[in-house]
Amino acid sequence: RFATVATAPPDSILGLNEAFAADANPKKMNLSVGVYKDASGQTPVLRCVKAAEQRLVDGEKTKGYLPIDGQPDYRDHVRRLVFADSIDASRIAVVQTPGGTGALREAAALMNSQLPAIRVWISTPTWANHQSIFASENIPYDNYRYLADDKKSFDIAGMLEDLTGKTKPGDAVLLHACCHNPTGVDPTAQQWNEIAAVLAQRELLPIIDFAYQGFGNGLDEDTVAVRAITSVCAEAIVCSSFSKNFGLYSERVGAVSVMSADADTTTAVKSQLKSLVRSNYSNPPRHGAAVVATILDDSELTAMWHGELTEMRTRIKALRRQFVDTMKTTGAGHDFGFLLDQNGMFSFSGLNPMQVDELRNKYSIYIVGSGRINVAGMNEERMGELCTAVANVIEN
Ligand code: PMP
Repeated sequence: RFATVATAPPDSILGLNEAFAADANPKKMNLSVGVYKDASGQTPVLRCVKAAEQRLVDGEKTKGYLPIDGQPDYRDHVRRLVFADSIDASRIAVVQTPGGTGALREAAALMNSQLPAIRVWISTPTWANHQSIFASENIPYDNYRYLADDKKSFDIAGMLEDLTGKTKPGDAVLLHACCHNPTGVDPTAQQWNEIAAVLAQRELLPIIDFAYQGFGNGLDEDTVAVRAITSVCAEAIVCSSFSKNFGLYSERVGAVSVMSADADTTTAVKSQLKSLVRSNYSNPPRHGAAVVATILDDSELTAMWHGELTEMRTRIKALRRQFVDTMKTTGAGHDFGFLLDQNGMFSFSGLNPMQVDELRNKYSIYIVGSGRINVAGMNEERMGELCTAVANVIEN
């Protein structure tokens, strides 16, 4: 039977990690996969996480199952982080999920089981896994314009035109709340209002992918899209990931929050979400969510988290600045100033696939084929090396 199974292609991003690990060049640099690295090149365990884990280990009394929808205080913290108190809690069904990917998959499963004939609109470009997640739940997808032809700025006119002219009422639209992956290009607050108005007017269902809360401009500042949308749309889905902002990548911590028009609908939606979880993975893992809840239950640990998150965000911004300034000194004559207007870990460098290949083959510098760079993977001390290599491939 299994003899007929064909080999699947490697994941476009995680596959690069394998190639990086196998590269013997001691000067290799990994700017591909989206994890934060500190000045020493490590992806650290946050200090607030270590402190919370210590408390959990000392106080833990059981490894019994969590409820299907996850740990109640964790779910309440997620609701407050995402919506503050702008929406009545009775209108929001929150379910703890294994990471942001689990949240997106749960949203797609809800659409598949409850919203027949729904189609989802996805930005061009987007995170490579988005298409696969919706395809796995048999949800057809289409693309709306997002990145302008200059590959540096936001095509607001194109996006609004596509959402107005191509969608059908009832369709879903997948949006990146902040730190758009892979471009780093985000709408302004005013542009979010314009987008939200079109979503409401066309009766489109917003699905907000919130994987980088706190990495753009701040925890509360980054809710600008959620606020704009939920103030004019009665229904929305938010998919949270705490992989990046708590550095809890491998613990798989996320949540799907479904906002409905009233409390009765929310109860029905919640029951369907639980039924989908039950037949999928039954109930979520405890540890990561318990860490998040322990931190957010304690004002001292919360303050520590805010400090560490600010540290990560400011470091990434400083790396953007250092890269742009160092590129100027190489004399390559290519202005990377646009990187300073972008948010989060990623940016589209504008490097073409041949230049990406050359960076990897000649210098063992790994970036994604589309030209996406993980700025958070850059290193202060090796910025000169990186920029010289980039300048060389641009000039060739
Ligand atoms: N959405 C986007 C836009 C992402 O970049 C990521 C992580 N790379 C996710 C969702 C999924 O996050 P998680 O690792 O928590 O599943």
